[in-house]
Amino acid sequence: MNEIDQCITIKKIIENNPKTDNTRVVYNHVCAVLFETCNHYLVHDYIDINIDKSVSICYCSKCMLTIHADFIYSYLKFKLDNTKRKEWSFYYNNIHYCMTDFFIDNDKIVITVFLNNISKSRKPNCFHFKGVDFINTHVSDTHIVMT
Ligand SMILES: [Zn+2]
Repeated sequence: MNEIDQCITIKKIIENNPKTDNTRVVYNHVCAVLFETCNHYLVHDYIDINIDKSVSICYCSKCMLTIHADFIYSYLKFKLDNTKRKEWSFYYNNIHYCMTDFFIDNDKIVITVFLNNISKSRKPNCFHFKGVDFINTHVSDTHIVMT
């Protein structure tokens, strides 16, 4: 059994049992390992909510992670160290931004930054991303590097 298979098994066990604070930590950790190590094979599908309404979903058929804004939000919350907030950086299109915050808005991940050097007034600005945009993005305790 390789690391990915082990993580899938642990994830399933936790999903099928009542979660405690401890298992929630393990769960976030296991999901982060899967998100970072699986060579994802993304499947786009629709699930019916009722007769008239269906929503599009995107999941990986290998690790079975559903990649949506909620998942990415929990992933970023798990990875980024809140005590090092002042060091938070966002690298996007080879530009370094001082990152101030991130949140979910309308099924998108919003990253707010200061436009240092570009604008003297240090105006806050923000970027909007879909959950899938974070695939192959490197996240450490202080950095998000999106290529
Ligand atoms: Zn995967």
